[in-house]
Amino acid sequence: IPITKKEEKGRNIQVVVRCRPFNAVERKSNSHGVVECDSNRKEVMIRTGNITDKTSRKTYTFDMVFGPSAKQIDVYRSVVCPILDEVIMGYNCTIFAYGQTGTGKTFTMEGERSPNEEFTWEEDPLAGIIPRTLHQIFEKLTSNGTEFSVKVSLLEIYNEELFDLLSPSPDVTERLQLFDDPRNKRGVIVKGLEEITVHNKNEVYQILERGAAKRKTASTLMNAYSSRSHSVFSVTIHMKEITLDGEELVKIGKLNLVDLAGSENIGRSGAVDKRAREAGNINQSLLTLGRVITALVERGPHVPYRESKLTRILQDSLGGRTKTSIIATVSPASINLEETLSTLDYANRAK
Ligand code: ADP
Ligand code: MG
Repeated sequence: IPITKKEEKGRNIQVVVRCRPFNAVERKSNSHGVVECDSNRKEVMIRTGNITDKTSRKTYTFDMVFGPSAKQIDVYRSVVCPILDEVIMGYNCTIFAYGQTGTGKTFTMEGERSPNEEFTWEEDPLAGIIPRTLHQIFEKLTSNGTEFSVKVSLLEIYNEELFDLLSPSPDVTERLQLFDDPRNKRGVIVKGLEEITVHNKNEVYQILERGAAKRKTASTLMNAYSSRSHSVFSVTIHMKEITLDGEELVKIGKLNLVDLAGSENIGRSGAVDKRAREAGNINQSLLTLGRVITALVERGPHVPYRESKLTRILQDSLGGRTKTSIIATVSPASINLEETLSTLDYANRAK
């Protein structure tokens, strides 16, 4: 049976939507709910008219839809588990969080700690994708007797410059240089990027804390750092297995977990909106990512990987045999309606 284009596509790029609960500001601003999520039908319905207008609606369909009551573990099980299986088979994969600032990208990727240190970090119900993934890697590979090693790196892109959040240098403004890898047509080398070997799941937590401390310093030095920067957390797993007939099988898999810059300057057409352009506030990496994904989905002849730092760094993990998930995060409230439509339109183009 021939595989249709659509089916084949569906297997490589997956787009899911997560709508967070109302927050205090939205409740106080007597903003009303405009987002309805139907997880079974995988639909998001947006009320586009005013509060009395019950008929103007726009419906989108995605690969999965998570409503405000969805838990971290639900997202982990449905989105991340299948991707981690691919990584353990030796493929490179990427998960992105895309959306307006304040809609839950960092909550989804990193998660939070419950108050009062009630739980260990890997058992915390608020733990996001990064801690859960690291925990699962050690659980899975230890239990099946594979010989393996795990390395992590954390780099951030702000204004098309690269910063290493795990670097031992105290100077957070030190920039990294990017070069093409002469040995690998699709690869790049981030010169000097710190790759830290993680020996057990508890070490990961200390490493992430170190990254968080650097990020805090960076945000005091660079304007709107947390909303304008892209954070790329990469885990590389080297695995050695002995097959039944005694042969040695070496596999290398890589997973990139990417917390993107806030999407608020990307207009509904997918171009930079006029106000942002006038303010010189163009996020080249976010724009190029959209174009790269469109080119991959439409199987265009040219994929513009080279046009931004983010897409160059991820080139070996986007397209081809790799799997990509985009988690688009939205607010439920009418005050964010325009941004929500913009996010859903962007996500819809990636399907
Ligand atoms: P972003 O990274 O997109 O700017 P954050 O992840 O920082 O947004 O989320 C903004 C706020 O909303 C945080 O206080 C976070 O705790 C809360 N939040 C986001 N998503 C959820 C969710 N699904 N459930 C509960 N709280 C959430
Ligand atoms: Mg954030």
